Amino acid sequence: MAKYVYGIDLGTTYSCIAYVDESGRANVIKNLEGTNTTPSVVNFASPNQVVVGQVAKETAVIDPKNTVSLVKTLMGKSNFAINYNDEDKSPEEVSAYILRKLAEDAAKEIDAEVKDVVITCPAYFGTAERTATKNAGIIAGLNVLEIISEPVAAAIYYGCTKEPEEKTILVYDLGGGTFDVTIMSINSEKIEIICSDGDHDLGGKDWDSATMRYLADEFASQKSYDGDFDEYAQQDLRLKAEKAKQQLSAKEKTPVIVEAAGERARIDFSREKFDEITFSLLNSTVDKTDAAIAVAEKRGFKVDEILLVGGSTRMPQVTRVLEEKYGIKPKILEPDEAVAKGAAIHAVNVYINDQPTLSKWDEDNKGSVTSDSVLDPSNSVEQLSVDPAMMSIGGKKRSIVVATTKSFAVEAIVNKEPKCCNMIIKNNSMPDGVITVSQTFGTYIANQETAEIVVYESDFMDEYFDIDKDYEIGTATLELPDNLPSGAPIEIILSLNSEGILEVTGKDLTSNKEIHATMQSKNIMTSEEVEDLRKKSQQMVLM
Ligand code: AMP
Repeated sequence: MAKYVYGIDLGTTYSCIAYVDESGRANVIKNLEGTNTTPSVVNFASPNQVVVGQVAKETAVIDPKNTVSLVKTLMGKSNFAINYNDEDKSPEEVSAYILRKLAEDAAKEIDAEVKDVVITCPAYFGTAERTATKNAGIIAGLNVLEIISEPVAAAIYYGCTKEPEEKTILVYDLGGGTFDVTIMSINSEKIEIICSDGDHDLGGKDWDSATMRYLADEFASQKSYDGDFDEYAQQDLRLKAEKAKQQLSAKEKTPVIVEAAGERARIDFSREKFDEITFSLLNSTVDKTDAAIAVAEKRGFKVDEILLVGGSTRMPQVTRVLEEKYGIKPKILEPDEAVAKGAAIHAVNVYINDQPTLSKWDEDNKGSVTSDSVLDPSNSVEQLSVDPAMMSIGGKKRSIVVATTKSFAVEAIVNKEPKCCNMIIKNNSMPDGVITVSQTFGTYIANQETAEIVVYESDFMDEYFDIDKDYEIGTATLELPDNLPSGAPIEIILSLNSEGILEVTGKDLTSNKEIHATMQSKNIMTSEEVEDLRKKSQQMVLM
């Protein structure tokens, strides 16, 4: 059987899987319904059956209570996505069904095993969200080679990494539920993320909602109707609004038939009207883009190219505004597929180059992968059906220099007031995949018995910010020797790796006593929970 590795774009509204074939081309693999992308919608049909994709999206109209959409917006933030059959389902479990649908359909479509995957996530995802994404892959029974950022995958697909000269690229990614802007410096050997920003609650769905409001108002005035739309009419309106929005990407006008309360109205919807009612949404993406450009410019980078990714960049308003504002004609190429294809190309790269990492990953996760997924470094290159030389990556390792996606702070008394003191700041470069920062604080009172190191993860970039327990990710307690005066030096070292794992060291410099702790963000499942869910969810039949 041919051996391939895969790239999966686990999107907020649509997901996609791709692989690199024997000719070195990245291809998207169709699902069993025959489409290149699969709606990221899951419907719990019975205690042992789940429906994923287009059918689930349509079922949402008649069974909204048992259907989950936009689950990606919950990843790493909550342990709860839906209650079905008196059982709380986590976002990881729900996402795992989407991944399984992609993997199982792809395996049938190309008649090959789908096991080793690179999954993508937004660049601004922090530790919790990335770990949740990886856990979803494990629950789906996949071997997750790496989680990479969507804009990095897109840049790999656009071929930006093939050019030897250094370029600064801005990736504007407007998907169904998220907006992400990333600036990278790229050449054939290295991709360095300079900064990224985004809004994980802004995407095509908001353009749909604006359209729904407009259509509902027009319906109300045409039919002199002042009641609400019931659940069925709302879902129906949402599907029609999305369709109308997509049609306006190709033509100037489209008719929409709105049905509610037993009445029907025909509304003529124009692109001009659509642009007008969604102007503020587009503007907020431009504000984020401006902010990212300002950060990059401060560090001496000037944007050379703009790449568009995400289905919503098909809206002509996006290209128009970006070109007007920045004087660069954005490049747009298969916006729904670029991320999955780039991830597939990267998967080949990782598979060939990172065998020690893979073996180590297997060791670390004993029990959560089956023995047949343990890779043998000596023959893995031969195993792959694609020759990397044909892909012009030539088996060479391309380094990806990431930047911190979050700021990390510790609690300290500043001017007699407790404050969070940022030690690692968001968008700092991590040249070797690690960033280590040390700072020395003093004990607050004499004879202090312990030093409590309270760590916070946030998007704040100032040196200090007010304490907010919502951002707390963990605590480490350092026992102190007797009779310390106030102001006795305590060194705190924070070390963050590219997987987002934070190691905390507290050192009492008087006695040289140390404490080490690994911080997990909130809402991260334990490996036992992941393993239990993997076993349990495998019993569910996908339809
Ligand atoms: P993604 O998350 O990248 O798959 O993007 C999905 C979003 O792209 C959804 O909100 C779609 O409605 C939107 N989309 C797809 N095709 C078009 C189109 N032709 N015009 C406007 N929006 C589109």
